Amino acid sequence: MSDQIPALELPQISVPCTYCGADPGAPCTLHGGRRVRPYDTHQDRTAAYNATRTTARTTTEEAQ
Ligand SMILES: [Zn+2]
Repeated sequence: MSDQIPALELPQISVPCTYCGADPGAPCTLHGGRRVRPYDTHQDRTAAYNATRTTARTTTEEAQ
């Protein structure tokens, strides 16, 4: 918990990752959960997050 994990600041952290199984609020992991992916998340997770917002927004490319 003392390590800095920039990925925790990403909005898609609020949804679970279907790729690696990370829980909401937890960073993505690599190699079966043995290593944290600290700087970003899996594309599947970003896509899942974007899917939750399609009802509120018409664009899926607001973050660039
Ligand atoms: Zn993941």
